[in-house]
Amino acid sequence: MEQSQIMKHEFDTCIIGQGLAGTTLAWTLHRMGQRVAVIDRDEPLSSSRIAAGLITPVTGKRFVKSWRFDDFWPIATEFYRAIEKETGTGFFHQRNSVRLFASREEQELFAQKSNRDYPELVRYPENPVNEKNFDRSFGEFEMTQAARLNIPLYLDASRDYFSRKNSYFNAEINPSIDLQLQNNSVILKQFELHSKRIIFCEGFSGSKNRWFESVRFDAAKGEILTVKIPGLNEQRAVHRGIWLVAVGDDLYRMGATYDRKNLNTTPTETGREELCSRLSNFMRLPFEVLDHHAAVRPIILGRKPLIGFHPQYPQMGYFNGLGSKGSLQAPWFADTFAQSISENNNIPSEFNVATHMNVQNQ
Ligand SMILES: Cc1cc2nc3c(=O)[nH]c(=O)nc-3n(C[C@H](O)[C@H](O)[C@H](O)COP(=O)(O)OP(=O)(O)OC[C@H]3O[C@@H](n4cnc5c(N)ncnc54)[C@H](O)[C@@H]3O)c2cc1C
Repeated sequence: MEQSQIMKHEFDTCIIGQGLAGTTLAWTLHRMGQRVAVIDRDEPLSSSRIAAGLITPVTGKRFVKSWRFDDFWPIATEFYRAIEKETGTGFFHQRNSVRLFASREEQELFAQKSNRDYPELVRYPENPVNEKNFDRSFGEFEMTQAARLNIPLYLDASRDYFSRKNSYFNAEINPSIDLQLQNNSVILKQFELHSKRIIFCEGFSGSKNRWFESVRFDAAKGEILTVKIPGLNEQRAVHRGIWLVAVGDDLYRMGATYDRKNLNTTPTETGREELCSRLSNFMRLPFEVLDHHAAVRPIILGRKPLIGFHPQYPQMGYFNGLGSKGSLQAPWFADTFAQSISENNNIPSEFNVATHMNVQNQ
């Protein structure tokens, strides 16, 4: 049935979920001239709200260059800088990061790979980390195209912006009962809102969304600590298995654990002990734990984000699966999605949600 009455609010796109995915897509569509509504239930401890927001070009035990880093990095830096300007808020901090080697084997592996695979991204630092504070028995390397996105600040500044435009709504949407699907649009009756499309950016909660429930997740819970380390004075993120990053006033965030079994947001004693013991393996100063949080990373099987529309209901879209690299990847995926909407382009099947769904009659 088509809409028969004029609704109070008319939008081109209504986004459900104001985490990193929803916020970045909202800005991207808004900057292209669309009328965008954003709806979020204001959960205090989402993945985006507790994440450290690090962007690191070379990661993992095998010193691998982050997937499509050269595509994602320029789009991400341009995007966050533009939104900083638009909101008058500084939340994107481009800063080198340092990785300490844990063994002679790591040193050798890095020496083999760095010249061949990513010479432009790494160097041996002019200012090594302070030996009094860190165990640098095997030395370190420095990554130059690295950053920290203060995600909560980015989300808050964006929420204020969209609220001022009367296009932010605080509510929890139940996708099974709150939507009235029209032929080419959607109505959310409780807000008297009519939109050409609705796009779900729900993070791990999206695994329960009935319209997209055939998308398979491989999510991982992560725990993260805030610690006080007086006198450390290291402004670069320091990595050795885990990472440690300064957030001001002798405070540092450190993390994170990976747990694929217990997909909940409860901080555990085991998680805390693991992080503290791993930090003590390479950082020599005493520290005090001030805060401890946990959330579930929205990782989709195949480990790549998915965007696009439902194969049977093209007025219903999806943006999820940012995994553990959301800060780097969100702007590129939002841009690709927004362009496909405005130019009616096909989304490559690798990232197209429709090709990852096994749709029965819903
Ligand atoms: C411990 C930890 C550390 C991390 N560190 C980093 C890091 O250093 N760098 C990095 O890039 N990434 C990191 N990540 C990953 C990063 O947090 C995610 O990639 C990203 O935040 C996911 O964003 P999202 O918007 O998809 O999901 P979410 O952050 O889960 O956001 C979804 C939003 O939608 C809302 N919502 C969901 N369903 C509904 C509904 N039906 N109605 C209304 N609202 C709804 C939720 O309340 C939430 O606000 C980390 C994650 C964890 C857990």
